[in-house]
Amino acid sequence: MSKKALIAPCGMNCGICLGYLREKNRCEGCRFYCEGKPEYCKKCIIINCALLSQTESKFCYDCPKYPCRRLKQLDQRYKTKYHMSMIENLETIKKIGLDNFVENENKRWICPSCGAVRSVHRDFCLLCKTPFNV
Ligand code: SF4
Ligand code: SF4
Ligand SMILES: [Zn+2]
Repeated sequence: MSKKALIAPCGMNCGICLGYLREKNRCEGCRFYCEGKPEYCKKCIIINCALLSQTESKFCYDCPKYPCRRLKQLDQRYKTKYHMSMIENLETIKKIGLDNFVENENKRWICPSCGAVRSVHRDFCLLCKTPFNV
C-alpha cells in the first residue's frame, strides 16, 4: 500500500517502484534517506532542486518553472518506457488532493490475479508472474 510520503516531488509513486518493492537492499522512497537508494535517485536534480525547497507543498506543481525541462524529460522517459506519466500524476494531485490520489493509486496498481502490488517497472506481477496488458 502506498502512503502519502511515498509520492515523490516529481509525481512518481515510489510505492510501485521496483527499488521499493524488492526485498533486499530496499529503497525507502524518494523523500527518505536510506542506503538502498540508487545513486541516480540520490543525485536526482528534482529532489535536490533549490526551487522545490521553496514550495509550500514540496511538489513540482507549485514551482514557478513547472514543468521544467528536467521534469518533462523524466516524464517523457516514463511515458515511453513504462506508460506512466508523472506530470499527469501531479495534475491529478493538484485537482483531487494527495489523499484521493493515493487512494486511487492503491487501486490502480493491484494485480487482478493475486492482489499483490504491481510495479510500474515490470509488465508482469512480481508475485504470481501474471503478465499485464499495458
Ligand atoms: S529508487 Fe528512486 S524512484 Fe524508486 S523508490 Fe527509491 S527514490 Fe523512489
Ligand atoms: S519543476 Fe521546479 S521544483 Fe520541480 S525540478 Fe523543476 S525547477 Fe525544480
Ligand atoms: Zn499477481
